[in-house]
Amino acid sequence: MNLQQLIEKYPLIKEMQNTEEVIWFNSNQTKTSEALRNITVTSEMVQDANDRLERFASYIEVAFPETAKANGIIESPLVGIPTMASAVKELFKTEFNGELLLKCDNDLPISGSIKARGGIYEVLKIAETLAICEGLLTSKDDYGVLAKEEYKKFFSGYSIAVGSTGNLGLSIGIISAKLGFRVTVHMSSDAKQWKKDMLRQKGVEVIEYAADYSLAVEEGRKQAEQDPKCFFIDDENSIDLFVGYAVAASRLKKQLEQLGKMVDEDHPLYVYLPCGVGGGPGGVAFGLKLLFGDHVHCYFAEPTHSPCMLLGLMTGLHENISVHDIGLDNKTAADGLAVGRPSGFVGKTLEQLIDGSYTISDQTMHQLLTLLADKENIRLEPSALAGMTGPIQVAKHGANLQNATHIVWATGGGMVPESEKVTYYEMGRQFLNR
Ligand SMILES: *Cc1c(COP(=O)(O)O)cnc(C)c1O
Repeated sequence: MNLQQLIEKYPLIKEMQNTEEVIWFNSNQTKTSEALRNITVTSEMVQDANDRLERFASYIEVAFPETAKANGIIESPLVGIPTMASAVKELFKTEFNGELLLKCDNDLPISGSIKARGGIYEVLKIAETLAICEGLLTSKDDYGVLAKEEYKKFFSGYSIAVGSTGNLGLSIGIISAKLGFRVTVHMSSDAKQWKKDMLRQKGVEVIEYAADYSLAVEEGRKQAEQDPKCFFIDDENSIDLFVGYAVAASRLKKQLEQLGKMVDEDHPLYVYLPCGVGGGPGGVAFGLKLLFGDHVHCYFAEPTHSPCMLLGLMTGLHENISVHDIGLDNKTAADGLAVGRPSGFVGKTLEQLIDGSYTISDQTMHQLLTLLADKENIRLEPSALAGMTGPIQVAKHGANLQNATHIVWATGGGMVPESEKVTYYEMGRQFLNR
């Protein structure tokens, strides 16, 4: 199908080409129970990831003392943001029913973004597998031993490689270096200088590319293939990453219970997830569908210049279409979301489960960043605000949000240096004052 035919079939592409803020509702969505029958990832796999993270808690607690108060479990708070909710309604002159909560993955320990879930999980799994194969560990041991010098020495015989727009590199780089692995991060042109500097300080090899994310991943994959002792973290295709992210769901369920929030037919849960290549938001959405079925509604949120997942899902072309194919430039201040071609694995896994996907402009993300800092004193990176227009978007299109709970997934910002935070804030201030 050429572009003209695509546009005829999917007229929304026209608006996407004009970088308008759009929303797409998934007409391929089926009942959760039906959709799950066609999916190879299972709840057992997510449970296995959950158990593995529990085995590793004693190591995490020793290696990263900031996790001690949570006994080595890497988790983030879920908080109400009522003042922000009012400000958002006023800014967009739109009302919505239901309560607004923020899932603060910017506060996740170790790497301050959602990548502290899947990214760290996959490296831990590699370490466990190697140590068990070598007879250095059994699954019954206290994994705290892995912090010992002899284990670091063992892991230094292996290397880890990853391609990233920044945050995945940070998360993989930090945990890999801590365990003792040699690690190479292939960074796309979108990656911020401070992220590269921070990694190099930790002894991580950072290779920079003038091109975008897809190429950085491709190059990383190629280099890793030449080295049998190198493990490539494949952000586009990794089931381990995906299930690592999915573990978030059962923890969120407990947090909702603690807050006294019900999720059932009469109390729907809406979750808005900033989306880059898809692994993070896809994994979380999958985990939530496993637990809450048809009572949870998950939406991806992407920049108007990088709506790769929306494009892949809507056309069914998945990884075979990129935003460049419809004339978009994939240039956005939301560096965590600057991905032009979606993960085919995630798109195909979620195609009958996900409720929809919408876009948001860089300007809107900046405005919301400043508003959230003013109203709730929470400071995020631009990508992490993409979920914030979710309730507005679904309300505008007539969803019945009576008794709804809305969760905006704040995917990152915890490691952003102070000077950068000020720059983000000032930019949003300017947009708000216009
Ligand atoms: C990586 C990232 C996302 C999206 O995750 P993907 O797995 O790339 O879809 C969202 N927000 C932030 C801040 C990120 O770093």
